[in-house]
Amino acid sequence: MYPKDSKSEWHRGQGLWSHVPESDWNNWAWQLKNRINSPEKLEKLIELTPEEKEGCNYAKHKLALSITPYFFNLIDREDPNCPIRKQIIPRGNEIHVSPEELLDPVGEENTMPVQGLVHRYPDRVLFLVTSQCASYCRYCTRSRLVSNAQDYNFRPRYEKALNYIREHAEVRDVLLSGGDPLLLNDRRLDFLLGELRSIPHVEFIRIGSRVPVFLPQRITDSLCDVFRKHGPIWLSIHVNHPKECTHDLFDATQKLSYAGVPIGNQSVLLNGVNDNLETMKSLIHRLLMMRVRPYYLYQCDLITGSAHLRTSVMKGIEIIKGLRGHTSGYSVPQYVIDAPGGGGKIPINPEYIEEINDKEIVLKNYEGKIYKYPIKPSGQNAPLPVEGELVLS
Ligand SMILES: *Cc1c(COP(=O)(O)O)cnc(C)c1O
Repeated sequence: MYPKDSKSEWHRGQGLWSHVPESDWNNWAWQLKNRINSPEKLEKLIELTPEEKEGCNYAKHKLALSITPYFFNLIDREDPNCPIRKQIIPRGNEIHVSPEELLDPVGEENTMPVQGLVHRYPDRVLFLVTSQCASYCRYCTRSRLVSNAQDYNFRPRYEKALNYIREHAEVRDVLLSGGDPLLLNDRRLDFLLGELRSIPHVEFIRIGSRVPVFLPQRITDSLCDVFRKHGPIWLSIHVNHPKECTHDLFDATQKLSYAGVPIGNQSVLLNGVNDNLETMKSLIHRLLMMRVRPYYLYQCDLITGSAHLRTSVMKGIEIIKGLRGHTSGYSVPQYVIDAPGGGGKIPINPEYIEEINDKEIVLKNYEGKIYKYPIKPSGQNAPLPVEGELVLS
């Protein structure tokens, strides 16, 4: 049963590819092979703005252009401001660098003991297992290495990284990312997850992937078997706009959930994509309907050429303020800034504390009403009234 949403349809269909046999369309290898990965291919399908033409011609030097037919279908081709389009079709603005922007915006390069292994937090590591993705997000925080368009020449070193993890007993949490780990074939994933599982101190294994969103066809029964075999494997997906919550994504997340994979979502706050309360609310409600728990809402990293997609921090705070208390707590993500220079993720919250003094904490609730709570137990504990004297007022 698909969730019902009174506001709009959950997009479905092959759109421009309705002539393609369904068996091809639903095959992830077909989707990858038929990706729109050159300005020429793209211009056959959509009328590009001059801005986009400029961006597309430059993409091969910065971050490759690549869009799966499935995801391309979600674009409203009549609308140059379509929120899907903005995430995935390059624009000339990407070439312009603002002074605050950085090639390595969250300072990963300084904390890589092995190429592709980021050990920033004491008990967990980020393991980059590939530089490839099914499609490329134009605001990619790792565009220096992802898609290998720049001179980075990224090569994951599985054995070295695994050895590092084996030798560091403090690492209890391993996060596979990239690039997109779910582009590895089942055999390779089986190998990597098996190796990690065999390390006694690794308690928690998770994968960051946008494949369910770009390429839901990849979520096959045999992939789910790999997750079952090595589970629990946790998954963080990346959905930014309610239009991405399609029947296909619903099917994919259902399959994963039934294979015992808990799923969270990480969104990036993007200018003109999801930077308003109603869009965000619709998104997180749909995620809950898909058993996906909104995890983080990221302030967009200071990646080079991202100014047109970034939005003010105040906007993010305002959105969280509009959600907390007003809708299901389960649906409210934690808004974070991944600090430039390698400080890690820092929670950014609306202010609910009016005052803290020796006696009490003065709080403001979601409606702006003031409440007080004693700062500590008074210490003057009276004995409980004997039975019969207890009066509830
Ligand atoms: C985001 C991130 C993690 C995981 O952080 P959580 O807050 O535990 O989800 C780990 N390592 C690095 C380098 C990260 O950027």
